[in-house]
Amino acid sequence: MTTVLISGAGIAGPSLAFWLSRYDYEVTVVEQADELRKGGSAVDFRGDQMALLERMGILDELRACATGMGDQLIVDRDGREVSRMPSVVFSGELEVERGDLSAVLHRHTADRVEYVFGDRIIALRQDADGVDVTFERAPRRRFDLVVGADGQHSGVRRLLFGDGHTADLGYHAIGFTMPNVLGLDHSARIHNEPGRYVNVGSARDPHRAGVMLVAEAPELGQHRRDAQAQRAIVRERFADMGWIVPQVIDAMDEADDLYVTSFAQVHLPRWAQGRVVLLGDAAWCGGPGSNGTGHAMLGAYTLAGELAAAGGDHVAAFARYEEVMRPATTKSQKFAASAGRHLAPPTARKIRQRDRVYRLLSSRPMTGLLSRIVKRNANTGALREYADA
Ligand SMILES: Cc1cc2nc3c(=O)[nH]c(=O)nc-3n(C[C@H](O)[C@H](O)[C@H](O)COP(=O)(O)OP(=O)(O)OC[C@H]3O[C@@H](n4cnc5c(N)ncnc54)[C@H](O)[C@@H]3O)c2cc1C
Repeated sequence: MTTVLISGAGIAGPSLAFWLSRYDYEVTVVEQADELRKGGSAVDFRGDQMALLERMGILDELRACATGMGDQLIVDRDGREVSRMPSVVFSGELEVERGDLSAVLHRHTADRVEYVFGDRIIALRQDADGVDVTFERAPRRRFDLVVGADGQHSGVRRLLFGDGHTADLGYHAIGFTMPNVLGLDHSARIHNEPGRYVNVGSARDPHRAGVMLVAEAPELGQHRRDAQAQRAIVRERFADMGWIVPQVIDAMDEADDLYVTSFAQVHLPRWAQGRVVLLGDAAWCGGPGSNGTGHAMLGAYTLAGELAAAGGDHVAAFARYEEVMRPATTKSQKFAASAGRHLAPPTARKIRQRDRVYRLLSSRPMTGLLSRIVKRNANTGALREYADA
């Protein structure tokens, strides 16, 4: 039986474990966190991603925990509506909390896959027949193949290709939850002031609201392992804003689920070296708006399908996987490169311009058109048929 070690139990890792274990591979997943990471905001699916969820047999389960998020209203400093964004743009055909998706994927694999939490790979040594893996805590082990599905700051990527393959787009997102002080019911409010974006929304849990802040704040990246320093920077950056922002910032100090991430993209000339290959954000991170979750799951399906189809020839399988996935991920990276400026326009004039476009898009005839365009963009054409899938 072919043994595979996957680094990272986010979305890409468990999705790959799902498929590989179905093809009779012996799979181990190592995750550096002590448990599944629950934080983050909602993720959405559309177009052929829906077909993939159906193929995995998890569509109904995910539908049962859909957020059902409605339109998002853009409000001024006094909370008055100035424009609105139709739900089809942000929430797709199906939207679920990232934590719910992660739990479903884990549930569907836990009985067939070995999960090791609280550890990570610190060295890899390949030869013609396998890979010797040194862990930070567990004893050394040997695997046939290793997959780096360990996200934007991938440790496996660093071991394979070194540092310096990340382009920082300058913006950061800060996510957490707080009490639903606005009494929102399956809706969200967005408030902008130059260079800053605040989104407060509530859907499944009427008592809680999810907050997403976006700002151009490169200094947050220098304190990646210091949540207190990050909170202080966010507080200062959002200090003078109107609406309920002061209350939101106070709530951040109470939050135990703070998630801070930079808008960054990973650009690599190739994703594999020998018996080791990258998947998901580790390989092609595009930042918000780049369809990261859908691509991670599609990539996992493709990588497993190609490995099974190649009958043990991992070199051919890795090449074919990259051939199928690269056009879609490159297109998404281009599309998402301006996400920061779009969410948090730098001047009041640019905010007004963007809101005018939103007003136009939210008119009834435009919403139907928009829905078709968004769906067409999500259809990558990369969902292949694999004999035993
Ligand atoms: C807690 C969290 C919240 C998120 N929230 C959002 C959000 O709100 N909006 C959004 O657009 N995207 C968010 N993302 C990113 C989003 O999940 C990914 O862009 C997408 O789903 C692709 O998934 P991935 O599995 O490639 O990466 P990720 O989902 O980031 O998963 C990577 C996993 O690898 C683990 N890991 C990292 N380094 C190592 C290592 N050296 N060894 C072992 N394990 C390691 C991480 O702990 C994580 O569990 C979030 C990610 C996380 C981890």
